[in-house]
Amino acid sequence: MKKTAARHPETLLSHLGRDPASHFGTVNTPVYRASTLLHDSMEAFQEAGRRGLKKGTSSYGRTGTPTTFAFEETVAALEGGYGGIAVSSGLQAVAVTLMTFAQTGKHFLIPDSVYFPTRKICHDLLRNLGVETTFYDPTLGAGISELVRDDTALIYMESPGSLTFEVQDVPAIVAAAKAAGAVTVIDNTWATPLYFQPFGHGVDIVLHAATKYMVGHSDAMLGVVVSGEQHYERLRRTSQYLGCAAAPDDVYLGLRGLRTLAVRLERHQANALALTDWLGQRPEVDRLLYPALPGDPGHALWKRDFTGASGLFGFTLQPCSREAVLAFIDGLELYGIGASWGGYESLILLTDPASMRTATRWEPVGPTLRIHAGLEHADDLIADLEAGFARLAAIDPKAGGGGIHGGKAACAG
Ligand SMILES: *Cc1c(COP(=O)(O)O)cnc(C)c1O
Repeated sequence: MKKTAARHPETLLSHLGRDPASHFGTVNTPVYRASTLLHDSMEAFQEAGRRGLKKGTSSYGRTGTPTTFAFEETVAALEGGYGGIAVSSGLQAVAVTLMTFAQTGKHFLIPDSVYFPTRKICHDLLRNLGVETTFYDPTLGAGISELVRDDTALIYMESPGSLTFEVQDVPAIVAAAKAAGAVTVIDNTWATPLYFQPFGHGVDIVLHAATKYMVGHSDAMLGVVVSGEQHYERLRRTSQYLGCAAAPDDVYLGLRGLRTLAVRLERHQANALALTDWLGQRPEVDRLLYPALPGDPGHALWKRDFTGASGLFGFTLQPCSREAVLAFIDGLELYGIGASWGGYESLILLTDPASMRTATRWEPVGPTLRIHAGLEHADDLIADLEAGFARLAAIDPKAGGGGIHGGKAACAG
């Protein structure tokens, strides 16, 4: 597609990243499997090497093929960035970005609600390299300027936060970073470029676990870093130094997943809203963690900055025994138990945010859970949870408020 200006994201999803005329008329850009790329002459090969890390160029399989470029271009256009860099997982996108700005004596600010392996990179790898990390309360907003130091090189965001779903005041944090000359990075995996546009709020670098909603079918690992022109070649160089190369089939699956992202997200959102609406009326539930809900502490910021919510949310239960909550989870028929999310299928996990933070406390009255609402019919998903609460109540009749809500809980059984 030639002109991208003024077209809607749904249209871009159908038309970007493909050029049938160069590929035998096929609708989709094919999978190029390549290590060696042959050139017409020694001069041409050397010239390709000199072009180095310019966008959309490659002299070797590791630096990309048309399949890679199609995926990178599409995500970059959706985000409104200059260029994308495909890597082999979301965590690799995080690592490449952090390593690009890691320098002995520098200081990074990372939200306390960050994806846990990102915290581990800072805590272990970057610390060994002499980079100091301060973890900050994700709800700080403009108050973050009190934590910014002369040596602060990077402020990282992830909104909403992993497991606990705090929404960050991105424009306020970006303003503080700009005043200090620090680069800003956001993990935009939850919202995808369709529901949040970080570059529009002044963020420098946006990264994604494409493994989640972009691939969308739980069958490939993929990451992507998108940046403005200023940082692009530097990021791509780091990715090359670290030997990053996204696998051809996985990149193809990422691009293929993008084609249906808009319609899938609508259903994920509708199902998450149906489930949270129902859970909100259950006596066993203490608190919902989903910024699309008017009662959520992050709702005002979410409403200001986001255009939608995806299917991943958390909730906390009233105090109940571990045995009861495990009976609730393990007996579910439609919710898988496993890491990751963003596929077509529903998932559930018992989480432990308290053990993963240092700047803030997580002290719910009962267990914390996370659900990914898949594409199933919402009524079936609700019925499955209802049966789960009956198992929970059978083991722990007091969960759900005991006497006060006892009648309601008993009805549910
Ligand atoms: C899953 C996830 C990652 C890591 O992605 P992988 O592809 O699993 O390596 C990074 N950030 C967030 C917010 C995630 O949920």
